[in-house]
Amino acid sequence: MKNLALFLISMFALANASSQKEDSIFIRKISDHMLTNGQAYEDLRYLTKKIGGRLAGSKGMVLAENWSESVMKSLNPDRVVRQQCMVPHWVRGGNDLATAYFVSGKKSQSKKLDVVALGNSLGSMKPLKADVIEVKNYDDLEAKKDLVKGKIVFYNVHFNEKFVGTFNSYRDAVQYRGSGASRAAKYGASAVIVRSMSHSTDNNPHTGSLRYADSLPKIPAVAIGLMDADWLSTQVANGNTAVSVHTHGKFLPDTIGNNIIAELKGSEFPDEIITVGGHLDSWDNCEGAHDDGAGCVQTIEILRTFKALGYQPKRTIRFVMFANEENGLKGGNKYADEAKAKNEKHVFALESDAGGFTPRGFDITASPAQYDKIKSWKPILSDYGINDFTAGGGGADIGPLNRTFNTPMAGLRPDSQRYFDLHHARNDTFEAVNKRELLLGAISMAALVYLVDKYGL
Ligand SMILES: [Zn+2]
Repeated sequence: MKNLALFLISMFALANASSQKEDSIFIRKISDHMLTNGQAYEDLRYLTKKIGGRLAGSKGMVLAENWSESVMKSLNPDRVVRQQCMVPHWVRGGNDLATAYFVSGKKSQSKKLDVVALGNSLGSMKPLKADVIEVKNYDDLEAKKDLVKGKIVFYNVHFNEKFVGTFNSYRDAVQYRGSGASRAAKYGASAVIVRSMSHSTDNNPHTGSLRYADSLPKIPAVAIGLMDADWLSTQVANGNTAVSVHTHGKFLPDTIGNNIIAELKGSEFPDEIITVGGHLDSWDNCEGAHDDGAGCVQTIEILRTFKALGYQPKRTIRFVMFANEENGLKGGNKYADEAKAKNEKHVFALESDAGGFTPRGFDITASPAQYDKIKSWKPILSDYGINDFTAGGGGADIGPLNRTFNTPMAGLRPDSQRYFDLHHARNDTFEAVNKRELLLGAISMAALVYLVDKYGL
């Protein structure tokens, strides 16, 4: 009896070892194929240079939808569909301007500041000039609330430099971009200037969404480059400094956007759906190369490679270009809503929306058992740079799927040191993306999709 048990265990170990070997060989094929034939970089060149910024509602959005649909169709998946959703249509409406007025050596002087209006913010429409009051955080705002009326509140909140992972700094500071305008409007501020969500060494301002509280005045809001932020802080400390802000943002009527979805039908469990994707929209002030052109072209690359290698998935795999992540999340919500209406079974979702840099790991929201199963693949994945398996996180666009069905989800986590140097800023361009780093991300994602497809979770 004891011998039989030992025999069975060793047979199991042998079978396990041979399927591990088979997996290693296939994933090596994926890697070899992408590193030698991958088109993701050229796709990204087209998306960023020929189309460029593609905020929801813009002409770029329409062009990007058409382009990604035709590229995916050309790869001959089992089907390509558009999933319509209504998206907000915010426009910047013109050049965002800010000028500081200050006294230096008893002489009145002025200096142009490098600013960009925050997404979803309403413009001043004409120059709005007021004294500036600087605050270090919300506690500081509360302490100074009686001094705020009529002034421009300057949130000079630094990215915490002590965090090694820069997404922690972002999570820490982004509340000031998101709700700083309304918090200041509550005390009568006329506008806000927000220190950019970055610890870059240049002066490029970084935009991003804000959300106004409906009950409070919707005041203009801009982000300021870090060098100008430091300069402004010094001027404010030296005495009264006024700034004139002139922005033009407004909402046009909601319009139709689309998730673009390609599908490979599962051969054994066609009802079990695996989603992999990125978001097709980007801010209007940049090419959206890392955010999130990279995630889109990586997703397309996985489809391309699976087709090229003749891979027949067991489960159905959907390759999704999500609409409107940046200022509404309408695409991600629509995807989950329709899945629910159709009673679909979503077994796993993976997103790449943290830049096209060297892959380091995956952020995983799943049950402990599912997390352990993913982590058990580390010996295979580590060959491609994947060593970190962090509990929590995933992706904004697949979040609704996770919340609706408790679908386990993961997000590709590349090296984060340079991401916030360019996130939502004019330097998020094609030139900032390295071809091999981009492809390595796609390889890691493809490997994880393959393993989940083969073994389930
Ligand atoms: Zn993004």
